[in-house]
Amino acid sequence: MPLALYDTWSRTLRPFTPLRPDHVGLYCCGPTVYDHAHIGNLRTYVFEDVLRRALALNGYTVRHVVNITDVGHLVSDADDGEDKMEKGSRRTGESAWAIAERYTVAFQHDWRALNLLEPTLWCRATDHIAEQIEFIADLERNGYTYRTADGIYFDTARQDDYGYLARLDIAGLQAGKRVALGDKQRATDFALWKFSPPGSTRQMEWQSPWGVGFPGWHIECSAMSAKYLGPLFDIHCGGEDHIAVHHSNEIAQTQARHGTRLANFWLHGHFLMLDAGKMAKSGGDFVRLQTLIERGVDPLAYRYLCLGAHYRSSLRFTMEALDGAQAALGRLRKAYRQWPEGGAPDAEAVARFKAEVDQDLNLPRALAVLWEVVRSDLPAATRRATVDCFDQVLGLRLADWHEDVVTIPAAIALLAEQRDAARAAKNWREADRLREQLQAEGWQVEDSAKGQVLRPLD
Ligand SMILES: [Zn+2]
Repeated sequence: MPLALYDTWSRTLRPFTPLRPDHVGLYCCGPTVYDHAHIGNLRTYVFEDVLRRALALNGYTVRHVVNITDVGHLVSDADDGEDKMEKGSRRTGESAWAIAERYTVAFQHDWRALNLLEPTLWCRATDHIAEQIEFIADLERNGYTYRTADGIYFDTARQDDYGYLARLDIAGLQAGKRVALGDKQRATDFALWKFSPPGSTRQMEWQSPWGVGFPGWHIECSAMSAKYLGPLFDIHCGGEDHIAVHHSNEIAQTQARHGTRLANFWLHGHFLMLDAGKMAKSGGDFVRLQTLIERGVDPLAYRYLCLGAHYRSSLRFTMEALDGAQAALGRLRKAYRQWPEGGAPDAEAVARFKAEVDQDLNLPRALAVLWEVVRSDLPAATRRATVDCFDQVLGLRLADWHEDVVTIPAAIALLAEQRDAARAAKNWREADRLREQLQAEGWQVEDSAKGQVLRPLD
């Protein structure tokens, strides 16, 4: 049975075949770095990591691109309101650039704590302004844009199938709700380039053929994915909240420029639910991975919790469920440690595990196969080798785990990474300040040829 994935575009489970033999292009929408990620955001990245590992299990070489949105993501999807970066800057008093740097480091720290495989490429929106301007200029040449007082907009009326991914009811959208249009002609039209407000200077702004300003949010993903993966690549992922606006707009732009729907498969991870509802930053209160770590939770226990729910079902988050995941992970580690090395995997168990993974990443069922093996009467060395195979997809780092290693608390590791970033930016004053802060927290930092080393102070 080949790998089958649920494609949001066709609303069907489709057998996966890459466009180019043995190679897969995978683009995943990354974070907007104006604040910390919450664990709901992180659930999407866990799903995408499992997808990448499942593709590798099937023998594909994956080119995995993740963007960092550091400009252009407005507070409201309706193209009004403030840029999230500038808003973050007002909140903290730091520059928008410093905020972007700080939250990128923090995000990548969470990424590694969850044992997500490093992408082939991280790309920042602000490093690709020229590509975005070129993209918009092509859209203009092809007749898909119009100008208003505050920017250049995409004219969605030019496409009969605009919004197909989301099965949008365009007529209903136009007629029904009262949508704040501003100067836009239609509710579904969206900004490609926004002008800096007259008489003011933004922290992040660039020259363009249309005037000084900054790119809209959606254009960055179309421009960067096409640059690094081509105008039609295999799989585009994101959270389910991206379907109606962000991904619909990425497709519209790409159709208008390249005549493709950007990706052959569109996959979407579902939300993490707190009792109050969907977890979103705009709701004010949200839970960070760091918050959990400070309560004694192993980040990989959160990963285990995510694996226990199918990515296309919403997962209700409770501390009890997380405690349960931590306990299960503890039992698994304990069992694993008692098994000797030197065995060979059990082919039948590996085949059953892979069949579940290949069925649209059915990790809950794959975990059930894992526990059958743990509790089986297979020789202990066979169990170890079999579970090692499973862990290539599960990513629980079973072979690396030791009870007795000195664990560096995540808050300390984060300070050290910020110091590393400050040193890389030759910001010596900030690097020294962070060294002192680490010392105050009881950690000595030493710089070696291989980078900095942390030791607890006696
Ligand atoms: Zn995107």
